[in-house]
Amino acid sequence: MVRIDKSSVLVPLILTAKGRGGLATKILISEAEAGGSTFRFKDIYRHTSVKSVLRELQNGKCCFCEDYIAHVSHGDVEHFRPKGGFQTDEKQPLQIPGYYWLAYDFDNLFYCCQICNQVYKRNYFPLSDEKKRTRSHTQDYREEDSLIIHPEFDDPAQHLTFVGEVIKPVNGSKKGLETIRRTGLDREELEDDRFVYLKTLRVLADVARSGGPQSLAARQHFHEISQATAIYSAMVRANFPDLIHKP
Ligand SMILES: [Zn+2]
Repeated sequence: MVRIDKSSVLVPLILTAKGRGGLATKILISEAEAGGSTFRFKDIYRHTSVKSVLRELQNGKCCFCEDYIAHVSHGDVEHFRPKGGFQTDEKQPLQIPGYYWLAYDFDNLFYCCQICNQVYKRNYFPLSDEKKRTRSHTQDYREEDSLIIHPEFDDPAQHLTFVGEVIKPVNGSKKGLETIRRTGLDREELEDDRFVYLKTLRVLADVARSGGPQSLAARQHFHEISQATAIYSAMVRANFPDLIHKP
């Protein structure tokens, strides 16, 4: 998981106050003010214009597992704060309403693989302090402290690291632990894939550190694959701290 900076792009027109998303949000808010707690959501949040901006911004990678999505599937536009309802754990029934007013909010949307989104994260949204839970559009959700790392407002590197291919929380970080659990970042398929990649990188690291004729080219390659554009870049940074800087 790496930090995603949305400041370099404009909010897609469809999600602005004058766009269909803005109008749909006003309708949701008026329904909530009239006492509604279940809502019908439109597909606006995953409109092509939204998805393509997110996909490009995230270099075609999932906001949680850093795997490339487009090679094998369409990918989801995921709501970080669940729009329809939320759960803090498996035992809790779905709590409604969810974060309906953020259904078309660009800050709440990320490009995500279907496994992280649909198999693991689903509607889970635990907080460090449940008393600060935002239940309506009249409250400021930024006062909540989510136990799942926010891909933009949090810095994933402060909470997650890697020992080899195995993802670990930094200094027992609760956020790190809960993010691993709720997005399945330690699932076997991912660990297997990271392990195979790492095996190749270890051979290349020996070349990079050797001082031999291919050393500079290998160091340049390490620099490139530690950038956010590359797959599993957080794992590369954690495992080869001496090789990721520009030679
Ligand atoms: Zn994923």
